[in-house]
Amino acid sequence: MLASATPASAPESAIYNTQMQDLIGRLLIELGEDPSREGLLKTPQRVEKALAFLTSGYRANIDDVLNGALFSVDYSEMVIVRDIDFYSMCEHHLLPFFGKCHVAYIPNGKVIGLSKIPRLVDIFARRLQLQERMTNQIAETIREKINPLGVAVVCEGTHLCMAMRGVEKQNSYTITSAMLGAFRDQGRTRMEFLELLKHRAPGVDLAMQAPPLTASCLDE
Ligand SMILES: [Zn+2]
Repeated sequence: MLASATPASAPESAIYNTQMQDLIGRLLIELGEDPSREGLLKTPQRVEKALAFLTSGYRANIDDVLNGALFSVDYSEMVIVRDIDFYSMCEHHLLPFFGKCHVAYIPNGKVIGLSKIPRLVDIFARRLQLQERMTNQIAETIREKINPLGVAVVCEGTHLCMAMRGVEKQNSYTITSAMLGAFRDQGRTRMEFLELLKHRAPGVDLAMQAPPLTASCLDE
């Protein structure tokens, strides 16, 4: 996934923001590096491009993404898209957090084309984020766009700001959930969703504990 951050097709001349590249060059100096050494010569340009991609969610238009992919149906069984990979950046440390996102909803006359759900996750992942907020934004957007009987989103993330800095054990991960409508009001519906996730997502039963969330990223 990360390989697509710098697609081979991107022209070398695709410089978007030289001011940002200057800042990255200065950052290298402040870190004690020599930006003129061979290995770092193109680093400001590469970092700038990578950051532009990793924050491209700010510039994405949700309606453009969903355009033509909302369908009327006479169907009210639970729709689940699970194991959606996400890659995001924590807003406290500008370090990556990444993992799996599981989305479910119960239609109320409308469905979203299945391939659009991962696109929606990308839009909210590709910006500076908190895992809690990202989880809620995905759920609220689905509610807003198709007004289903219920929406559930569970995200499991590994936070490099914790793992790399030794704040928490390396293998710990954070689970966040947003349950709206039937998933909030009806224990059986929520259980059915979580049971379906359990088989491949070992930590997911923790998401049932409400109020669930400790901060996904320690603000220090
Ligand atoms: Zn952090």
